[in-house]
Amino acid sequence: MEKVGILALQGSFAEHAQILKKMGVDFVLVREKETLKDITHLIIPGGESTTLENLLKTFGMWEALQLAINRKQLSVLGTCAGAILISKLFPDCGFMVQRNAYGAQQSSFVDNLESTVFENLEGIFIRAPKLILDDKLTKTKILARYKGEPVLIEGEGFVAMSFHPELSSEVRIHEYFLEKN
Ligand code: GLN
Repeated sequence: MEKVGILALQGSFAEHAQILKKMGVDFVLVREKETLKDITHLIIPGGESTTLENLLKTFGMWEALQLAINRKQLSVLGTCAGAILISKLFPDCGFMVQRNAYGAQQSSFVDNLESTVFENLEGIFIRAPKLILDDKLTKTKILARYKGEPVLIEGEGFVAMSFHPELSSEVRIHEYFLEKN
């Protein structure tokens, strides 16, 4: 049985909690290392990846998270800063990021995405990173693109995206993550 946690140190964790509530999925807020042992799925919210990384290190959670992800004990969904953290925590994830590549805070935007998996998918982009896939690691699957560039990807044990489904009423990506992982 899956046990879902939301990393609740900084960023849009409350919005992810609203999405899970809407889906009727129970979850715990993860604020300490011990809680990581109790969960099978972790959501890493958008926010500021440098701050999140520093807080994870300060609370002694960085290494525990790294181990759990790399040993495939924990599946992760990351939105925006969360995707940046997945690329740092998980060397075999098959992608790199270019931070803030979709523009500064003032250039935030909402637009339609191209996807054969999710119909009428919209993306909210706020200082969003580009996801740069490693062509040699073919296990990474592109679930949605924006202007031809991958913005929603899936690999072994993770789903990562540049945009913020948690800031709209979009539940399908969270559902997909929990079904497939
Ligand atoms: N640009 C931020 C970072 O580098 C991410 C922004 C976001 O999560 N909306 O962490």
